Amino acid sequence: MSMIRLKNVSKFYYSKGIIASGISKVNLDLDAGEFVVITGESGSGKSTLLNVISGLDTYEEGEMYIEGSETSHYTAEDFERYRQKYISCIFQSFNLVSSYTVFQNVALAMEIDGHDGHEIKQKVNEILNKVGLSAYKNRKVSKLSGGQKQRVAIARALAKDTKILVADEPTGNLDSASAEGIVELLTEIASDKLVVVVTHNYDQFKDHATRVIKMHDGKIVEDTGAAESSAAKSDLPAHGRRTARSEHSSEKRSITYGTQLKLGVRNTFNLPAKFLLLLLVFIFVVGAVSAQYVSVKKQKDTVSEEGWNNYFTNYDPKRIVVEKQDHTAFTRADYEALENAPHVEKIIREDIMYDSSVYMENDQFSFGGFALSIGNLEGEPDLGTLPEKENDVVLSGYDDGWTFGEKPADLIGKEFTVMTDDGGEYKIRVSGIVLKPEDDSMYSGNSEMYLPDSMMSDIRRGMYASYSNTTMLINGNEEKLYPGAGGLVTNENVPEGYILLPTSYDSMFKEGYAAGKEVDLRAKALYYDENLTLMIMGTYGEKTFEKKTGLKNLEEHDGEIYINPVDYRRLYEKGSFQTSVFVDDTKNMEGMKDMLERGGYHTLVLKDHIFNFMNSDIVSVIQLPLAVIVCLAVFFVAYFVVRLILKSRGVYFATLRMLGMGKEPARRIMRVELVLVCVIAYALFGVFIYLNYRGLIFNDKLMDYITYLTVRDYAVLAVILLVMAVLISGRFMRSIFRNSAMGSYREEA
Ligand code: ADP
Ligand code: MG
Repeated sequence: MSMIRLKNVSKFYYSKGIIASGISKVNLDLDAGEFVVITGESGSGKSTLLNVISGLDTYEEGEMYIEGSETSHYTAEDFERYRQKYISCIFQSFNLVSSYTVFQNVALAMEIDGHDGHEIKQKVNEILNKVGLSAYKNRKVSKLSGGQKQRVAIARALAKDTKILVADEPTGNLDSASAEGIVELLTEIASDKLVVVVTHNYDQFKDHATRVIKMHDGKIVEDTGAAESSAAKSDLPAHGRRTARSEHSSEKRSITYGTQLKLGVRNTFNLPAKFLLLLLVFIFVVGAVSAQYVSVKKQKDTVSEEGWNNYFTNYDPKRIVVEKQDHTAFTRADYEALENAPHVEKIIREDIMYDSSVYMENDQFSFGGFALSIGNLEGEPDLGTLPEKENDVVLSGYDDGWTFGEKPADLIGKEFTVMTDDGGEYKIRVSGIVLKPEDDSMYSGNSEMYLPDSMMSDIRRGMYASYSNTTMLINGNEEKLYPGAGGLVTNENVPEGYILLPTSYDSMFKEGYAAGKEVDLRAKALYYDENLTLMIMGTYGEKTFEKKTGLKNLEEHDGEIYINPVDYRRLYEKGSFQTSVFVDDTKNMEGMKDMLERGGYHTLVLKDHIFNFMNSDIVSVIQLPLAVIVCLAVFFVAYFVVRLILKSRGVYFATLRMLGMGKEPARRIMRVELVLVCVIAYALFGVFIYLNYRGLIFNDKLMDYITYLTVRDYAVLAVILLVMAVLISGRFMRSIFRNSAMGSYREEA
């Protein structure tokens, strides 16, 4: 049985639509102990034949047998294993790892086979002795001469200790003296291995070869000295030839995890410039990803910190929105303390309404503006007077001819209806108007409506009610209620402590009626969670509706649930949780912010949030995917830069592949390197944040990281980066292993 048998094997190259024949219908038997020299003019197919034999390239036609087994079903992975077990390659261009030392290069071949360190050390030293390189053991390969490099390659092949050694123009780049040494080494090796050498310089080998094959135009045209004649050579040592076969354990071990880790770490640092570049890229990635992360988080925090008031339409640069850190309502004393604090120009107590408009209308005119307490009005109105009666309001807006119509004075004394969020309606009378010059402020909307305090708290309650999550627990069932018309409504006819339900609720109880049972109402909002137990006073139907509620027209009200206004206020009237403070000068902003934070308030400086007028839905619908897209973009940029930087790694991994390493270990080695760089980049980032935190380097922007990122966030960030590093190494390896080994080497080199 031949070691290698080719039967009518052909290989074609496809490039740019042209098919070129590499070898065609080659028949060949090769055996252990042979020293085969393949010659022929350039382009005759010598390299192609060698690459097919060594499984570096695929073939398209015919059959190849390795120790009797057919290989046409072999996958790339099978060929890697085949190479690991049978083949050592030597190339004209050496294919060594030039950033490794001589020792490391030779050891690599054994490491891939999973030998232990002690064994490797001993054998590599022995081999280096044999090829005459002991003195250069710790020298980097890049610093060797061509002849020395080829010796290293031969040493590596010896260390690999396979049955077959193939060499493609091993002396092609060498002077004749060095070449002679190489030929002698190969001859020695050939005593117990199959050695196949491609050369166009037959003279160098003619005294040693046991067999000469001549190729022309992809075909074997001459084959002299095959098997029987080589056996006739008598000057070979007695232990040579076929006896060697049994020496090799046919089960090759594979590279250990420890070695993979070692190689990964070595690769990380053995080219310092490359390491620094890579580190820079990863620092950029850390920065970009964390910036995205912070910005998403900041949006979310901003939104949740301010509760339901998500729409800050007023970005006055002097405005700071504050809430108490203990989430309780503002008291009169709080307001006074704020008002009297240094550098405070004014405060807006009913801040929650400062960003939403209130509308009033009658059949001739309508007006919308920010609702403000009358106490906030400075000075006298331009037209009319300050409020004189309980329902008087003062309007303020531009004197532009349409805000108040052609004749603003005509509105004084007129009656309007104001609608609140929970369906309340108020009759009001305009007592005065403030006319603002048109360019007064580009920030604070156009118009304001100054309302009496009682109306302000009604409106505020309406807002709180409509933003609360209200539920009713009845007979074990929980239902969501909507405060305001159509849902939970106040009714004076319902006594305190009672609730009036539509008749449909009767059927919820097995007795057939609801009256006398209890229900729990619960109003939950950011700042409070209120429970109220009420007794069902009864239900209303078609006939009883008017009598029980004092209202007309059941159709309009059907489904409504009635409670006493006192109970309603208990649920929703919780005071004001949010106030705006205006500084006298924007330059005092930072100081003011610090003072407020120290005084027990959360602050939100509106000018910093010009682009943040979005609610949490918008954050998750737009901001989050955007952050993901940015991170993906960063990933791809990082990938291509890493690929560029790691150009030589491509050659490195192609070389490992030629030595028979599979995709998985290669991927792990790459992963170690990228993860390590990533960890170092992250550590540097951490140091930077820490220094910033300690005030050793101060950067305003970076303070954001510290305020917005918790330990958990740093962990999440680290995971994202690690995943990126792993993905990049995965992609990298896929591209290395996409082609045949030779194809990827050609591509990478
Ligand atoms: P030799 O090693 O004897 O010089 P090769 O085996 O390299 O010859 O080439 C044999 C034939 O295959 C030549 O005609 C060459 O042009 C073609 N060939 C070799 N490699 C490739 C390739 N990667 N792509 C396309 N054609 C190739
Ligand atoms: Mg060639």
